[in-house]
Amino acid sequence: MAHVVIVGAGQAGAACAAKLRALGFAGSVTMIGEEPAPPYQRPPLSKAYLLGEMEEERLWLRSADFYADQGIALRLGAKVDGIDTAARVVTVGGEAVGYDALVLTTGSVPRRLPAAVGGDLAGVFTVRTLADVDAMRGEFVAGRRLVIVGGGYIGLEAAAVGAKLGLDVTVLEMAPRILQRVAAPETSDFFRALHAAHGVKILESTGLERLLGEGRVTGVRLANGQELAADFVIAGVGILPATALAEAAGIAVENGIACDAMGRTSAPDVWAAGDCASFPWKGGRLRLESVGNAIDMAEAVAENICGAAKAYEAKPWFWSDQYDCKLQIAGLNTGYDQIVTRPGEGGAVSFWYYRGGSLLAVDAMNDSRAYMVGKRLIEMGKSPDPAAVADPVVELKGLLKA
Ligand code: FAD
Repeated sequence: MAHVVIVGAGQAGAACAAKLRALGFAGSVTMIGEEPAPPYQRPPLSKAYLLGEMEEERLWLRSADFYADQGIALRLGAKVDGIDTAARVVTVGGEAVGYDALVLTTGSVPRRLPAAVGGDLAGVFTVRTLADVDAMRGEFVAGRRLVIVGGGYIGLEAAAVGAKLGLDVTVLEMAPRILQRVAAPETSDFFRALHAAHGVKILESTGLERLLGEGRVTGVRLANGQELAADFVIAGVGILPATALAEAAGIAVENGIACDAMGRTSAPDVWAAGDCASFPWKGGRLRLESVGNAIDMAEAVAENICGAAKAYEAKPWFWSDQYDCKLQIAGLNTGYDQIVTRPGEGGAVSFWYYRGGSLLAVDAMNDSRAYMVGKRLIEMGKSPDPAAVADPVVELKGLLKA
């Protein structure tokens, strides 16, 4: 009977294992994960869990019994350190585990501030794993000074938690504006104002020269020579796909483990999904860092292992929670040339991204209706008249029928 081995017990790994069983796959399934915790959701790590409003068990994607009940062998605290694609074997601490199909769901690793600029000082944290967050939670005490390097979603979510807990928070962003890599100026402006209203200082066009302190961080020196005191620092400077294992095994990597439309890598019977994997998209390659992609791509891989021969069709969506604002994003805004603003009710607003008259994406703040209609329109390949979108009197649902 076939044996599927899944490397990485995270969002994508768990989705793949569960889907195999849901499809009636009767062979063995082994999931091997480096972290000690059972597969868990990461988004609350920078939101409710960091805030202390969520218990660890509520992060778990499935109950403790699920894996045993489903006949999924879960090996935790176990790192796969090699793949022999010719012998169809992975090694875990010297032990060889054979596979008929291998799924790489190794996720990503946070970029760290280099040791040369003080990135190895105590009191400098990243936000990727439960262990990362458990290590920093004790630092979130009212009145302490937190400097966050990087004004992306994770940095801003951590800033919101810090402000809510009464910390003195400063965000450093090297680019001219926060969220520059991922959103339009309108969205950056919205979140800048939201943070300012909660007392968070956001310094844009501001590079970090180095972290200060001996042994433990005590402050930061900015590229302009200014120094800020800090009791602790969070680096939210992006992630890199975890490709080292695949690369060492000679598997092709191109902005992530390079997959074909089915999720197959360059090695026979080796598949990949989630943050670590790139896939064909509109004549190029795309890699997404989101829960939706991790689940959908992993499920597509499970179906293909079972013989579906089905191309993975990504339907990008994302969300972020900061204070009482829920941002929901549908689509991908790459290459936009027009932004349409649609005011919602009670301070809600949405920004609609177009390219050459085609709707690409929607950022909706506290406006789930705009998000849902926008998502549907993008999936249907429909582009409503920008003037109608901008007019709050025009019913959103009507845009679907137009
Ligand atoms: P992961 O969930 O990271 O799982 C990969 C696992 O593989 C890890 O446990 C890792 O230890 C393990 N692994 C790696 N190498 C090996 C090896 N050699 N042997 C064994 N195990 C290995 N997405 C959203 O859509 N919305 C959000 O609001 C959002 N917020 C986020 C907030 C935070 C703080 C973080 C960190 C992420 C957030 N994301 C969000 C992103 C989302 O969590 C990821 O895209 C998703 O977890 C990717 O799933 P994955 O299975 O590919 O990787």
